[in-house]
Amino acid sequence: QSQLVIDLRVAPVGDEFILVLADDRTEFARVQVMRTDFVANVSHELKTPVGAIGLMAEAIESSADDPASVEYFSQRLQKESQRLSHLVQDVIELSRLQSSDVVRQSQLVDINQVVSASIDRNRITAEGKEIILQAGGRAKRPVHGDPELLGTAIRNLIENAIRYSPEKTKVGIGITERDGVVKVSVKDQGPGIPEDEQDRIFERFYRIDPARSRQTGGTGLGLSIVKHVVGQHSGEISVWSVPGEGSTFTMTLPTVDEETEQDLLNTMKGA
Ligand code: ADP
Repeated sequence: QSQLVIDLRVAPVGDEFILVLADDRTEFARVQVMRTDFVANVSHELKTPVGAIGLMAEAIESSADDPASVEYFSQRLQKESQRLSHLVQDVIELSRLQSSDVVRQSQLVDINQVVSASIDRNRITAEGKEIILQAGGRAKRPVHGDPELLGTAIRNLIENAIRYSPEKTKVGIGITERDGVVKVSVKDQGPGIPEDEQDRIFERFYRIDPARSRQTGGTGLGLSIVKHVVGQHSGEISVWSVPGEGSTFTMTLPTVDEETEQDLLNTMKGA
């Protein structure tokens, strides 16, 4: 599927010209294939909610004199349209992350604040399933990056933990910091992830149980988004899981040392 194009150019150096630049387009070809796949996957994923919305609208029309049916189909219609909007949001987010010209805020970020805001945004969903969100630990040093993107990534991990866990369980969100790295981990008591699927779940639209993911509002893009965000922050994401016992997702990010922090603060003052 990939092609290699050697692109030779003449470049001026001082008064002379030299023949340089063997430009390897293999990466370019690979990205093209990835984009085409992405468009095909997105089109496929859009078909389900779009089709369902059409059917629900027809059902409402044909059951106009039965208020109970109208209510039932209206609720289903709302759910499908929410799913559609969630999918569109995730597709936009991932496309932005994948494009090289993504404009990213670069600032000192207090990861404690980002984590607690992400927990707050998941409280209502957790309460709906009587899941207890337990937070622990603190980071002393900041990280460098985009607080919104980091928030999106942490929120996705917490959302998944809640989505795949049974009712009345616990989700633990921990922060630890050591030797220049901060780790944010999200631990659940859900079904766990078989070892041979642990790498694949970070691929776009890969789901272990597609029906369950869709039913619970999953788009299949959450972990790809997490992986991209973490990569852009020179960090890592890993999963540890024992099927039947639960999963722990751990995000590792480099912290900013005191000297760099001072430099960044001075630059910001100057700007
Ligand atoms: P989705 O929107 O389907 O949750 P993700 O990319 O976030 O998409 O996750 C991919 C798949 O990984 C999910 O469909 C699910 O099968 C699995 N998964 C993710 N998080 C968990 C978890 N905490 N426990 C069990 N399975 C999980």
